[in-house]
Amino acid sequence: MTGLADDIKLLIQVQDVDAQIQSLDAEIKKIPREMDIHYKSFKAKKDELAALESELVEIQKDRKLKEVELDSGSESINKYKTQQYSVKTNKEYTSLQHEIGEIHEKNSVLEDEILLFMEQADIAHENIEKKTDEIKLENEKIEREEQENKKKINRLEQELQKKKEDRKNLVATINDAFVSRYERIRDLKNGIGIVNISDGTCGGCNMELPPQVINNAKTVKGITVCERCSRILYVKESD
Ligand SMILES: [Zn+2]
Repeated sequence: MTGLADDIKLLIQVQDVDAQIQSLDAEIKKIPREMDIHYKSFKAKKDELAALESELVEIQKDRKLKEVELDSGSESINKYKTQQYSVKTNKEYTSLQHEIGEIHEKNSVLEDEILLFMEQADIAHENIEKKTDEIKLENEKIEREEQENKKKINRLEQELQKKKEDRKNLVATINDAFVSRYERIRDLKNGIGIVNISDGTCGGCNMELPPQVINNAKTVKGITVCERCSRILYVKESD
């Protein structure tokens, strides 16, 4: 077992390693969260594509209906034209001619509408193509990122393992009770269990410390803790 002054120096190193472990851990956990954002945006694009495709189906359906109507109008015109050959009176002939004229007008409106649907279908086709390209690129990007992430996680986990090993070796040389005390405070105080005294104040909570406390920390006669935040206090050798 080493003396308290040595333990303090080692504990500061432990805290340093703990901070590295914490940041490696956070970095590893961040990766799937970031991927989730990509997956969500990818899914949104696929939903947009599905919406465009059903929009196109609707346009084609509407167009089909108008085409059926147009065909039936043309058939009627042919029928009336045939009837015109067999009518007996001028009046009957004119009445059929009138019917034919009305259907022509209707058909002309239908043709305009069909043309409009064709234009809309063209636009929908273009949008579908664009969206499909976007999705393909996004998919490639995600696959690339997944590959990179696999490597990155591997590397970070190896680093993390090494840091944990370092910590174990360090801790093995320090007084157990001292380590436990540090760990308790660290868990309660956001990862900081041991702080230095700078300008007479606690490096953790900034409280001004009584000279007696500062003196205790300087002489390292026993474990000195901050009365306010309970962190272990030490004085840097240069101070
Ligand atoms: Zn404090």
